[in-house]
Amino acid sequence: MSKVALSERIHIAFVGRRNVGKSSLMNKFIGQDLVIVSDTPGTTTDPVRKSMELLPFGPVVLIDTAGIDDVGELGEKRISKTIKVLTECDFAIVVLDSQERLSEKEKNLFEEIKSLEIPFIAVINKSELGINYELVEELISLKIPFHSVSCLKDDGIFSLKEKVSKILPQEVEIPLVSDLIKQHDVIVLVVPIDLGAPKGRLILPQVQTIRESLDVDSIVVVAKDKELRSALSKLKDNPKLVVTDSQAIMRVNADVPEEIPLTTFSILMARYKGDLKEYVKGLVRIEELQNGDKVLIAEACTHHAQEDDIGKIKIPRWLRLHTKKDLEIDNVNGFDYPENLRDYKLIVHCGGCMITRKMMQQRIKQAKFSGVPIVNYGVAISYMHGAVPRALQPFPEAIEEWNKLKKF
Ligand code: SF4
Repeated sequence: MSKVALSERIHIAFVGRRNVGKSSLMNKFIGQDLVIVSDTPGTTTDPVRKSMELLPFGPVVLIDTAGIDDVGELGEKRISKTIKVLTECDFAIVVLDSQERLSEKEKNLFEEIKSLEIPFIAVINKSELGINYELVEELISLKIPFHSVSCLKDDGIFSLKEKVSKILPQEVEIPLVSDLIKQHDVIVLVVPIDLGAPKGRLILPQVQTIRESLDVDSIVVVAKDKELRSALSKLKDNPKLVVTDSQAIMRVNADVPEEIPLTTFSILMARYKGDLKEYVKGLVRIEELQNGDKVLIAEACTHHAQEDDIGKIKIPRWLRLHTKKDLEIDNVNGFDYPENLRDYKLIVHCGGCMITRKMMQQRIKQAKFSGVPIVNYGVAISYMHGAVPRALQPFPEAIEEWNKLKKF
């Protein structure tokens, strides 16, 4: 199986009411009984994820979810998890029971999926029992594409997989760094190995930057911030680009001569997963913060907080120092993300390397919808350390946005 990072794979969610056969269908897709199947409604509680190669499409992640008609207090929580799964997925398979008509919950689910702009297909399961023609009429009148299968008889599964492969959204090819360098260019990556660095490995944005640089046949030099001056002095010519961890931007900004383009991994991620222009716009809000304002700091992965943790300690400290205001700061991690953002005056989000582009885009959309400016770590940290506009210079669209804001 290809080793594509989970967050880089197309995510497909199986959603629908309880007991319509979501888990059975997902098992049929995978070709093995990964998910427990039972006639008892509500067997699937937390979302179940499985990576696979969906031929002829390629690497995907399949997600089985709890029923949208789950009951009780726990059921409500499971439903909200299912809705969260939708915000990260690129495609939805809505499983229906061949014997029933569309319920209100299913109609609402279709509306929710449409509002999230997720392509989808309805799959009518249990076709071995015959298909309720009123259900088909409803789907046709709502212009919902559908396909019928029988998980029990293994009928229609192969053609469904083929159909889904054909209609899955094609990956948007957004470069991380490969458009900024070319063959034989030298790119210097600054990777501080501090307490926050994971043991024995590099983090995903660093690995992806190295890989993309090698893919265009450029020459990669990796150094810690302390060794940067020495590394630069050993190069015959100036590198084409220096990319640093945001936390070292102040030192690196001082050590890298003005004529060498400089940016941060997090700013590269802003463009790759997020919306760099939107983040630059969000900088205005840092200057508008007042005593008592609430700021949300969101990280898309969970890790054990370090002594001088970037999200929990450093960014709050820099924000308070920069604004000289007494701010109230909330932290969220992983898939936890508040549904109501309206109480916040600003959102500071990490690069989002561990979540799908779709989910990062949904978070930005949610922020815009709630009228809350959003910035990412790289843009905000560079700004608070006086490295903006320099760190934005490689990106004309970001500089254009910055020039519009310069008055503040
Ligand atoms: S998900 Fe966010 S916090 Fe976690 S490694 Fe990626 S960029 Fe850093």
